Amino acid sequence: MPLKPIVRFGDDPSIEELRSAIRHWLADNLTDEFRRTAANPDYLPRDAHERAVAFCKKLHAQGWFVPHWPALYGGGGRDVVEQVVIREELAYGGAPLVNTNGVNMLAPVLFKYGTPEQKEEHLPAIARSERMWAQGYSEPEAGSDLAALRMTAHRDGDYYVLDGQKTWTSNGVLADWIFVLARTAPVTGKRQEGISFFLVDLDSPGITRRPIRSMTGYPTFAEEFFDGVRVPAANMVGAEGDGWRVGKALLDAERSNITRAAQAQRYLDELIDWCRSQRGAASDPLADPAHRIALARVVERVEVGRALSYRVAHQQAAGALDPALPSLSKLYHSELTAELRALGAQILGPAGELLPADPEAVLDGHFSEGLLLSLLHSIGGGTSEIQRDLISTTGLGMPR
Ligand SMILES: Cc1cc2nc3c(=O)[nH]c(=O)nc-3n(C[C@H](O)[C@H](O)[C@H](O)COP(=O)(O)OP(=O)(O)OC[C@H]3O[C@@H](n4cnc5c(N)ncnc54)[C@H](O)[C@@H]3O)c2cc1C
Repeated sequence: MPLKPIVRFGDDPSIEELRSAIRHWLADNLTDEFRRTAANPDYLPRDAHERAVAFCKKLHAQGWFVPHWPALYGGGGRDVVEQVVIREELAYGGAPLVNTNGVNMLAPVLFKYGTPEQKEEHLPAIARSERMWAQGYSEPEAGSDLAALRMTAHRDGDYYVLDGQKTWTSNGVLADWIFVLARTAPVTGKRQEGISFFLVDLDSPGITRRPIRSMTGYPTFAEEFFDGVRVPAANMVGAEGDGWRVGKALLDAERSNITRAAQAQRYLDELIDWCRSQRGAASDPLADPAHRIALARVVERVEVGRALSYRVAHQQAAGALDPALPSLSKLYHSELTAELRALGAQILGPAGELLPADPEAVLDGHFSEGLLLSLLHSIGGGTSEIQRDLISTTGLGMPR
């Protein structure tokens, strides 16, 4: 079932033409491997990752991988409406958009705070899916309390020397580069001061990586040990000691993901289609009023999620993001994803709990797989408790 527009962006027929062109292109170019998986494209095994990269290169040649970037850096120069439509259709179709750390998180920060040289070096490589990025924020003793981070960076001529450890790094096994927050000055006053933001080549001498497997079975994370790693001073984004501001702008971009609602819509549509296919069967799930009520609630929540995504996109394009909106969006979509996947697993019955590898799995097992992944969403990018805390303090002005 195709996505139905819930907001009319004027009466421009070119938008519907664009949607239709993307659907046709996906029908020709997206393989079943990706069409049917719930897996996050950042958590794929190496061979599947390479096929996803090849797909993203084709998408880029089509002008749809980074449609909103300026042409100077390899983008399609499209406006915000077209960008939202393209990303929505791709997410709904199941396109494996790799390198979310690079495309959705680092790139907006480089556009805002990067030097011309940093933009020139990194943005085209991200656009062409030639350089995969990882995010090096969390440490063993610094997760929710990120300002507790202990990695140090001390200046040595034209270099900074980095020492410390990062952990829970998504895509850390496959990534080529990592952006990290490190302390360039000891804590004297506010802990958020004296932190700087660096771009680091993961092949630099002194870095040791270790994979961490998550409960989904994917090599989801890595941890990295930095031992006297020399990073050119030119790789610092923003001024020395200004890393908290740069790093926070990146978290806002991370939490404002505008594709979650379209993904939720797709899984909801599949679940409803499956329920319809069971009408009249002895175990007809829609004969149970509790299932019908729960489905209606998720239909309503998905519509709200899409409206929220559009608001985020418009505020991002205007460069004036409501400070609580990224947290609101992240929290809402994490909880919606979990609710939808849990409902699916319940409605589909015991076979709905089987993982994709099992031949008995219903709907290719992606509800059960998605249920496991939805737990990760409520932690990665900042936990739901922390998002609630940010909404109440930065959004509602309540005391800390
Ligand atoms: C799927 C996934 C992907 C991730 N990817 C990355 C990545 O790429 N790069 C990276 O740097 N990190 C990544 N992380 C790490 C993630 O950012 C941290 O796990 C997260 O910030 C929580 O930190 P923690 O694990 O140290 O838990 P803690 O901070 O120790 O929290 C433990 C519990 O206490 C609660 N809690 C803590 N402080 C408060 C408070 N003030 N108020 C109320 N409750 C509180 C938390 O909500 C949580 O339930 C990822 C994590 C996951 C699950």
